Amino acid sequence: MPELAYVNGRIMPIEEAKVPINDRGYHFADAVYEFISGYHGRLFAFEAHLDRLERSLRALSFPPISRDSIREAIEKIFQAAALDNGGVYLQISRGVAPRNHPFPINVQPQIIITVRSLPETPRAYLENGIHVITVTDIRWGRCDIKTVQLLPNVLARQQALDAGAQDAIFISPEGVVREATSSNLFIVKDNTLQTHPLTPNILPGVTRGCLLEICREEGIPVQEIFFNHHTLLSADEVFITSTVAEVLPVTRIDGRSIGAGCPGPLTQRLRTLLETQAGKTDSINKK
Ligand code: PMP
Repeated sequence: MPELAYVNGRIMPIEEAKVPINDRGYHFADAVYEFISGYHGRLFAFEAHLDRLERSLRALSFPPISRDSIREAIEKIFQAAALDNGGVYLQISRGVAPRNHPFPINVQPQIIITVRSLPETPRAYLENGIHVITVTDIRWGRCDIKTVQLLPNVLARQQALDAGAQDAIFISPEGVVREATSSNLFIVKDNTLQTHPLTPNILPGVTRGCLLEICREEGIPVQEIFFNHHTLLSADEVFITSTVAEVLPVTRIDGRSIGAGCPGPLTQRLRTLLETQAGKTDSINKK
Protein backbone atom coordinates (compact mmCIF):
# COMPACT_ATOMS: atom_id res chain seq x y z
CA MET A 1 0.00 0.00 0.00
CA PRO A 2 1.55 3.38 -1.00
CA GLU A 3 1.77 6.17 1.57
CA LEU A 4 -1.48 8.13 1.20
CA ALA A 5 -2.36 11.80 1.40
CA TYR A 6 -5.68 13.59 1.75
CA VAL A 7 -5.77 17.13 0.37
CA ASN A 8 -8.97 19.12 0.84
CA GLY A 9 -11.27 16.13 0.35
CA ARG A 10 -9.30 13.99 -2.12
CA ILE A 11 -7.17 10.94 -1.26
CA MET A 12 -4.13 10.25 -3.46
CA PRO A 13 -0.66 8.65 -3.34
CA ILE A 14 1.60 11.01 -1.36
CA GLU A 15 3.84 11.69 -4.41
CA GLU A 16 0.88 13.33 -6.17
CA ALA A 17 -0.09 15.56 -3.23
CA LYS A 18 0.84 19.24 -3.62
CA VAL A 19 0.22 22.44 -1.66
CA PRO A 20 0.32 25.93 -3.24
CA ILE A 21 3.38 28.06 -2.45
CA ASN A 22 1.07 30.76 -1.07
CA ASP A 23 -0.17 28.48 1.71
CA ARG A 24 0.14 30.47 4.95
CA GLY A 25 1.49 27.42 6.69
CA TYR A 26 4.48 27.66 4.37
CA HIS A 27 4.99 31.43 4.74
CA PHE A 28 4.12 32.07 8.37
CA ALA A 29 3.71 28.67 10.10
CA ASP A 30 0.07 29.81 10.27
CA ALA A 31 -1.13 26.23 10.69
CA VAL A 32 -1.93 23.70 13.39
CA TYR A 33 -1.46 19.94 13.43
CA GLU A 34 -2.17 16.68 15.22
CA PHE A 35 -0.52 13.28 15.10
CA ILE A 36 -2.71 10.33 16.06
CA SER A 37 -1.65 6.70 16.34
CA GLY A 38 -3.79 3.69 15.54
CA TYR A 39 -3.17 0.16 16.74
CA HIS A 40 -4.77 -2.89 15.15
CA GLY A 41 -6.98 -0.66 13.04
CA ARG A 42 -8.25 1.53 15.93
CA LEU A 43 -7.24 5.16 16.45
CA PHE A 44 -6.13 5.77 20.03
CA ALA A 45 -7.46 8.73 22.07
CA PHE A 46 -9.07 10.07 18.87
CA GLU A 47 -11.57 12.38 20.58
CA ALA A 48 -8.86 13.84 22.86
CA HIS A 49 -6.83 14.73 19.75
CA LEU A 50 -9.90 16.33 18.16
CA ASP A 51 -10.51 18.30 21.39
CA ARG A 52 -6.96 19.65 21.30
CA LEU A 53 -7.23 20.43 17.57
CA GLU A 54 -10.39 22.48 18.17
CA ARG A 55 -8.63 24.30 20.99
CA SER A 56 -5.66 25.13 18.73
CA LEU A 57 -7.96 26.33 15.92
CA ARG A 58 -9.88 28.56 18.35
CA ALA A 59 -6.68 29.95 19.87
CA LEU A 60 -5.55 31.13 16.41
CA SER A 61 -9.04 32.48 15.48
CA PHE A 62 -9.48 30.09 12.56
CA PRO A 63 -13.05 29.95 11.23
CA PRO A 64 -15.07 27.06 12.70
CA ILE A 65 -14.43 23.74 10.92
CA SER A 66 -16.86 20.87 11.40
CA ARG A 67 -15.43 18.36 13.87
CA ASP A 68 -17.47 15.59 12.25
CA SER A 69 -16.01 16.33 8.82
CA ILE A 70 -12.46 16.18 10.20
CA ARG A 71 -13.23 12.96 12.06
CA GLU A 72 -14.69 11.41 8.91
CA ALA A 73 -11.73 12.48 6.75
CA ILE A 74 -9.24 10.99 9.22
CA GLU A 75 -11.20 7.74 9.51
CA LYS A 76 -11.50 7.49 5.72
CA ILE A 77 -7.78 7.81 5.00
CA PHE A 78 -6.80 5.63 7.97
CA GLN A 79 -9.08 2.86 6.72
CA ALA A 80 -7.92 3.33 3.11
CA ALA A 81 -4.31 2.87 4.22
CA ALA A 82 -5.30 -0.46 5.85
CA LEU A 83 -2.31 -0.39 8.22
CA ASP A 84 -2.23 -2.52 11.33
CA ASN A 85 -0.26 0.13 13.24
CA GLY A 86 -0.41 3.52 11.55
CA GLY A 87 0.16 7.16 12.34
CA VAL A 88 -2.13 9.88 10.99
CA TYR A 89 -0.71 13.39 10.53
CA LEU A 90 -3.28 16.19 10.11
CA GLN A 91 -2.39 19.78 9.29
CA ILE A 92 -4.78 22.69 8.85
CA SER A 93 -3.48 26.02 7.57
CA ARG A 94 -5.41 29.29 7.58
CA GLY A 95 -5.52 29.23 3.79
CA VAL A 96 -3.84 30.30 0.57
CA ALA A 97 -3.31 34.02 -0.12
CA PRO A 98 -0.57 36.34 -1.43
CA ARG A 99 2.05 36.79 1.30
CA ASN A 100 0.83 39.50 3.68
CA HIS A 101 0.75 39.38 7.46
CA PRO A 102 -2.92 40.18 8.29
CA PHE A 103 -5.48 37.38 8.14
CA PRO A 104 -6.69 37.18 4.51
CA ILE A 105 -10.41 37.64 3.85
CA ASN A 106 -12.51 34.91 2.24
CA VAL A 107 -9.96 32.10 2.25
CA GLN A 108 -10.65 28.46 3.00
CA PRO A 109 -8.53 26.61 5.57
CA GLN A 110 -6.43 23.97 3.83
CA ILE A 111 -6.71 20.48 5.29
CA ILE A 112 -4.06 17.88 4.56
CA ILE A 113 -3.78 14.44 6.12
CA THR A 114 -1.09 11.83 5.58
CA VAL A 115 -0.90 8.33 6.95
CA ARG A 116 1.97 5.91 7.24
CA SER A 117 3.30 3.04 9.32
CA LEU A 118 4.23 3.95 12.86
CA PRO A 119 7.98 4.03 13.44
CA GLU A 120 9.12 1.24 15.78
CA THR A 121 10.86 2.49 18.92
CA PRO A 122 14.34 0.91 18.89
CA ARG A 123 14.47 -1.97 21.39
CA ALA A 124 17.69 -0.55 22.88
CA TYR A 125 15.85 2.65 23.87
CA LEU A 126 13.22 0.66 25.75
CA GLU A 127 15.74 -1.67 27.39
CA ASN A 128 18.44 0.88 28.27
CA GLY A 129 16.61 4.21 28.15
CA ILE A 130 17.53 7.22 26.05
CA HIS A 131 20.17 9.88 26.71
CA VAL A 132 19.17 13.54 26.64
CA ILE A 133 20.75 16.96 26.96
CA THR A 134 19.17 20.09 28.42
CA VAL A 135 18.86 23.32 26.39
CA THR A 136 17.49 26.79 27.06
CA ASP A 137 13.85 27.11 26.02
CA ILE A 138 13.85 29.79 23.32
CA ARG A 139 10.30 28.99 22.12
CA TRP A 140 7.42 31.48 22.01
CA GLY A 141 4.93 32.06 24.83
CA ARG A 142 2.12 29.83 23.46
CA CYS A 143 3.64 26.37 23.37
CA ASP A 144 0.21 25.08 24.41
CA ILE A 145 -1.05 25.67 20.85
CA LYS A 146 -0.01 22.86 18.53
CA THR A 147 1.31 24.94 15.64
CA VAL A 148 3.76 23.81 12.96
CA GLN A 149 6.17 26.50 14.12
CA LEU A 150 8.72 24.00 15.44
CA LEU A 151 12.14 25.40 14.50
CA PRO A 152 13.43 25.66 18.11
CA ASN A 153 12.37 22.04 18.61
CA VAL A 154 14.15 21.00 15.39
CA LEU A 155 17.35 22.83 16.39
CA ALA A 156 17.31 21.38 19.91
CA ARG A 157 16.75 17.84 18.62
CA GLN A 158 19.65 18.23 16.18
CA GLN A 159 21.85 19.63 18.95
CA ALA A 160 21.04 16.50 20.97
CA LEU A 161 21.90 14.18 18.08
CA ASP A 162 25.15 16.07 17.43
CA ALA A 163 26.02 15.58 21.12
CA GLY A 164 25.42 11.82 20.83
CA ALA A 165 22.08 11.97 22.72
CA GLN A 166 18.59 11.17 21.46
CA ASP A 167 16.59 14.17 22.65
CA ALA A 168 16.75 17.53 24.39
CA ILE A 169 14.81 18.89 27.36
CA PHE A 170 13.83 22.55 27.37
CA ILE A 171 14.65 24.54 30.51
CA SER A 172 13.28 28.07 30.83
CA PRO A 173 15.75 30.96 31.26
CA GLU A 174 14.57 31.05 34.93
CA GLY A 175 15.49 27.38 35.39
CA VAL A 176 12.10 25.62 35.14
CA VAL A 177 12.20 22.21 33.44
CA ARG A 178 9.51 22.29 30.72
CA GLU A 179 9.29 19.32 28.32
CA ALA A 180 11.27 17.53 25.58
CA THR A 181 11.34 18.53 21.89
CA SER A 182 8.31 16.42 20.96
CA SER A 183 7.24 14.87 24.28
CA ASN A 184 6.18 15.78 27.80
CA LEU A 185 8.45 14.96 30.71
CA PHE A 186 7.84 13.14 33.99
CA ILE A 187 10.12 12.40 36.92
CA VAL A 188 9.66 9.92 39.76
CA LYS A 189 10.74 10.86 43.28
CA ASP A 190 9.92 8.59 46.23
CA ASN A 191 7.24 6.76 44.19
CA THR A 192 5.48 10.04 43.30
CA LEU A 193 5.33 11.35 39.75
CA GLN A 194 6.07 15.00 39.05
CA THR A 195 5.35 16.83 35.80
CA HIS A 196 5.05 20.44 34.64
CA PRO A 197 1.53 21.85 35.18
CA LEU A 198 -0.52 22.84 32.12
CA THR A 199 0.49 26.41 31.32
CA PRO A 200 1.11 28.21 28.00
CA ASN A 201 4.74 26.99 28.22
CA ILE A 202 4.13 23.33 27.39
CA LEU A 203 1.94 21.33 25.04
CA PRO A 204 -0.99 19.61 26.78
CA GLY A 205 0.03 16.16 25.54
CA VAL A 206 -2.73 13.66 24.92
CA THR A 207 -0.43 10.90 26.20
CA ARG A 208 0.29 12.99 29.31
CA GLY A 209 -3.47 13.22 29.89
CA CYS A 210 -3.94 9.45 29.40
CA LEU A 211 -1.13 8.76 31.82
CA LEU A 212 -2.58 11.04 34.50
CA GLU A 213 -5.88 9.17 34.12
CA ILE A 214 -4.10 5.83 34.49
CA CYS A 215 -2.34 7.11 37.62
CA ARG A 216 -5.68 8.16 39.14
CA GLU A 217 -7.12 4.71 38.45
CA GLU A 218 -4.04 2.93 39.81
CA GLY A 219 -3.69 5.20 42.86
CA ILE A 220 -0.22 6.39 41.79
CA PRO A 221 0.39 9.87 43.28
CA VAL A 222 1.12 12.67 40.80
CA GLN A 223 2.12 16.26 41.45
CA GLU A 224 1.77 18.81 38.65
CA ILE A 225 4.48 21.17 39.85
CA PHE A 226 7.45 23.18 38.61
CA PHE A 227 10.91 21.70 39.24
CA ASN A 228 14.46 22.61 38.32
CA HIS A 229 17.55 20.99 36.77
CA HIS A 230 18.84 19.79 40.14
CA THR A 231 15.54 18.00 40.93
CA LEU A 232 15.58 16.49 37.44
CA LEU A 233 19.08 15.06 37.85
CA SER A 234 18.39 13.72 41.34
CA ALA A 235 15.14 11.95 40.31
CA ASP A 236 14.78 8.20 40.87
CA GLU A 237 13.36 7.78 37.35
CA VAL A 238 12.76 10.04 34.36
CA PHE A 239 10.63 9.37 31.29
CA ILE A 240 9.05 11.20 28.37
CA THR A 241 5.57 10.69 26.91
CA SER A 242 4.14 11.24 23.44
CA THR A 243 1.93 9.63 20.84
CA VAL A 244 5.03 8.28 19.07
CA ALA A 245 7.30 7.54 22.06
CA GLU A 246 4.43 6.42 24.36
CA VAL A 247 6.36 6.08 27.66
CA LEU A 248 10.10 6.17 27.01
CA PRO A 249 12.70 5.90 29.80
CA VAL A 250 15.46 8.51 30.10
CA THR A 251 18.57 7.17 31.86
CA ARG A 252 21.23 9.81 31.19
CA ILE A 253 20.90 13.61 31.26
CA ASP A 254 23.78 15.96 30.41
CA GLY A 255 26.16 13.01 30.75
CA ARG A 256 24.94 12.11 34.28
CA SER A 257 23.28 8.82 35.13
CA ILE A 258 19.69 8.94 36.46
CA GLY A 259 18.65 6.74 39.40
CA ALA A 260 20.00 3.23 38.96
CA GLY A 261 21.09 4.06 35.40
CA CYS A 262 18.47 1.79 33.83
CA PRO A 263 14.71 2.12 33.15
CA GLY A 264 12.91 2.26 36.50
CA PRO A 265 10.08 -0.02 37.68
CA LEU A 266 7.36 2.66 37.67
CA THR A 267 8.35 3.77 34.15
CA GLN A 268 8.10 0.20 32.90
CA ARG A 269 4.79 -0.38 34.65
CA LEU A 270 3.30 2.80 33.18
CA ARG A 271 4.48 1.88 29.70
CA THR A 272 2.71 -1.48 29.96
CA LEU A 273 -0.47 0.13 31.33
CA LEU A 274 -0.50 2.71 28.52
CA GLU A 275 0.07 0.05 25.85
CA THR A 276 -2.87 -1.90 27.23
CA GLN A 277 -5.08 1.20 27.28
CA ALA A 278 -4.09 2.00 23.69
CA GLY A 279 -5.17 -1.50 22.64
CA LYS A 280 -1.64 -2.27 21.52
CA THR A 281 -0.62 -5.21 23.72
CA ASP A 282 -4.13 -6.61 24.21
CA SER A 283 -4.40 -7.80 20.64
CA ILE A 284 -0.79 -8.97 20.58
CA ASN A 285 -1.51 -11.12 23.62
CA LYS A 286 -4.64 -12.51 21.97
CA LYS A 287 -2.66 -13.64 18.91
N1 PMP B 1 5.27 18.31 23.73
C1 PMP B 1 5.61 18.65 22.48
C2 PMP B 1 6.44 19.88 22.27
C3 PMP B 1 5.20 17.87 21.39
O1 PMP B 1 5.53 18.23 20.13
C4 PMP B 1 4.44 16.69 21.63
C5 PMP B 1 4.01 15.80 20.49
N2 PMP B 1 3.39 16.45 19.46
C6 PMP B 1 4.12 16.36 22.95
C7 PMP B 1 4.55 17.20 23.98
C8 PMP B 1 3.33 15.13 23.27
O2 PMP B 1 2.00 15.24 22.84
P1 PMP B 1 1.12 13.96 22.55
O3 PMP B 1 1.18 13.11 23.78
O4 PMP B 1 -0.23 14.51 22.33
O5 PMP B 1 1.69 13.27 21.37
